Amino acid sequence: MNVLVINAGSSSLKYQLVNLERKELIAKGICERVGSNSAFHKHGLDENEVVIDAKMADHDDAIALVLESLTSGSAKAIDSLDEIDAVGHRIVQGGKYFDRSVLIDEDVVAKIDELAELAPLHNKAALMGIRACQKHMPSVPMVAVFDTSFFQTLPPKAYMYPLPYELYEKYAIRKYGAHGTSHRYIAERAAAVLDEPIEDLKLITCHLGNGCSMAAIDHGVAVDTSMGLTPLDGLMMGTRCGAIDPAIVPFIMEHEGLSTAEVNDLMNKKSGLLGISGISNDLRSVRDASEKGDERAMLAYDMYSNSVKKYIGSYIAVMGGVDAIVLTAGVGENCKKMRRMIFSGLQPLGIILDEEKNRARGFEREISSENSQVKIIIIPTNEEYMIARDTYDILHEKVGVEGGVLDEVPMLA
Ligand code: ADP
Repeated sequence: MNVLVINAGSSSLKYQLVNLERKELIAKGICERVGSNSAFHKHGLDENEVVIDAKMADHDDAIALVLESLTSGSAKAIDSLDEIDAVGHRIVQGGKYFDRSVLIDEDVVAKIDELAELAPLHNKAALMGIRACQKHMPSVPMVAVFDTSFFQTLPPKAYMYPLPYELYEKYAIRKYGAHGTSHRYIAERAAAVLDEPIEDLKLITCHLGNGCSMAAIDHGVAVDTSMGLTPLDGLMMGTRCGAIDPAIVPFIMEHEGLSTAEVNDLMNKKSGLLGISGISNDLRSVRDASEKGDERAMLAYDMYSNSVKKYIGSYIAVMGGVDAIVLTAGVGENCKKMRRMIFSGLQPLGIILDEEKNRARGFEREISSENSQVKIIIIPTNEEYMIARDTYDILHEKVGVEGGVLDEVPMLA
């Protein structure tokens, strides 16, 4: 089965065409700066990648371009759209309605639309992606995979905010979490690497990229996570501040004369690594500056690692222990200096990093020392694969498409 995975962001549209039985990535690409004059489209696998300057007024145009590139031109991957058996859409906000991935029908579309209030840019972009696919491939079944659904298992004590209860009743203000597909994937893979059933493990998963989030996964069930009503909560990130004293918000609005939109912008786009270092949201640039003695860059490093460290401590307390800490995304997979800082001083908790393994490069790997009671594991995330797999499973279950449910997590080429 060939599944087209669509990940529509506010101004971008990433996609992959995946064959599940062959575990093969057939094509991939990204449309960037959708809606601007400088929009462009990258399409194709690694060395065959082509970059096309293209006009894209919106995600509808972007989908049309993607489908054209898949079926024609120098980097075409399939002969016709008939070779696409299903489409899996990544949806950021599934609210209380979706605790798993679902086949898309008009009711699902209406709910995604209703939930757009909680993730305006993302859910609206995803809806345009869904509508465009319906237009170009009316008979192809589609599945929605939600970033939030993995966290629908959180108990009320973890997802409620200590605000007047009526606000929860009136606006459904609560923690929903985000990056759920990534946490689900790395938790499954970590269990496979440890060769233990996930139901026997207490895991702390850390998605450390530009956006950062962590989760406590107790015997396969998510019991807490760092992102909240929106992806602004929790850890310090590239440009997002994460959790801060809420009283700071009215204070800066008053003293700096900022509107709600401006203060939102400040916390989402001008804070985090960028805000503290004044250099960049990219950890590599912050690292280079810190190594040259830039004090604010050093402070940014210290704060970022401390923020992760604090969540490790609190999730150990939430679960009454931890068997493995799993790291993924740009920083988690690649930055040995940050990993060293995160795990330094955690020996009393039975968490010991192996310096040599930490420096080595590789794919999925353990980097804890032999005498560490807690394993530290790096798992490169693969959200697209999870979306393709959910799509495959749902079609098999609901539409009777031939083939078995893929319950193992094979790697893509
Ligand atoms: P996202 O998908 O959330 O945009 P990524 O998972 O690509 O982000 O992570 C981006 C972050 O990873 C950036 O801060 C970048 O500096 C960092 N990163 C990527 N490679 C390295 C590396 N080799 N060393 C240090 N940091 C890295």
